Amino acid sequence: LAGKTFKPESSVIDVGGVKIGGKEIVIMAGPCAVESRQQIIEAAHAVKKSGAQILRGGAYKPRTSPYAFQGLEEEGLKYLKEAKDETGLLIITEVTSERAVESAAEFVDIFQIGARNVQNFQLLKEVGRSKKPVLFKRGSSTTIDEWLNAAEYIMSEGNYNVILCERGIRTFETATRNTLDISAVPVLKSLSHLPVFVDPSHAAGKANYISSLSKAAIAAGADGLIIEVHPNPKCALSDAAQQLTPSVFDDLCKDISKIAEIL
Ligand code: PEP
Ligand code: MN
Repeated sequence: LAGKTFKPESSVIDVGGVKIGGKEIVIMAGPCAVESRQQIIEAAHAVKKSGAQILRGGAYKPRTSPYAFQGLEEEGLKYLKEAKDETGLLIITEVTSERAVESAAEFVDIFQIGARNVQNFQLLKEVGRSKKPVLFKRGSSTTIDEWLNAAEYIMSEGNYNVILCERGIRTFETATRNTLDISAVPVLKSLSHLPVFVDPSHAAGKANYISSLSKAAIAAGADGLIIEVHPNPKCALSDAAQQLTPSVFDDLCKDISKIAEIL
């Protein structure tokens, strides 16, 4: 179902009027995690001003350590909804369990499946039974073939609104958190009709590389980006090193518009 043999023309996913996979580049941005009402609302206003159409913010955080901040869960979902009501931005949040899918359904516009759950087939089937769009991240050690097969688990339950998102893979290189597989963009475009996004934040792991990787992704043909932006990255409760300040994000958005114009 994800393949071009099934559907040769590119899929465009309409999320509340925002067309993902169409001519326009779509930017999703916001903090790694929802930390407080004030933080997410401040982030929402900032990313909207720079041109993002969709607000990201994790309420359920799949942290490497169980002792690290795990997210505000249902309280975080309510703050995301408040940010939506105040700014009109659409909302994406990660769901890590079937319970999270149920809770998040009434608050958010797009479900995110994170790298750690790329082959959590029960969870994939659960979001497949919902009709809500799914941003489906690649696992850090998943081949493109495995990833597309995993996408079938969502689609075969009836949900064709899948957006693939490359977020870096594990290699021998340690200078970055993961290695952004830029090749994944043209490879996916040749194999699949689904929209392709890139997450430069979790690939680089360091704020100063995000702009270069974002521009490369758009030049390579990505349909959009999901970028971590925090009102005060130094104080972030998760992924502090990779979150952009609103002002750096604003400059990046201007560069992306210029690249998009010449494509
Ligand atoms: C995230 O987007 O906050 C996240 C945890 O990303 P990934 O699943 O790509 O690690
Ligand atoms: Mn993060």
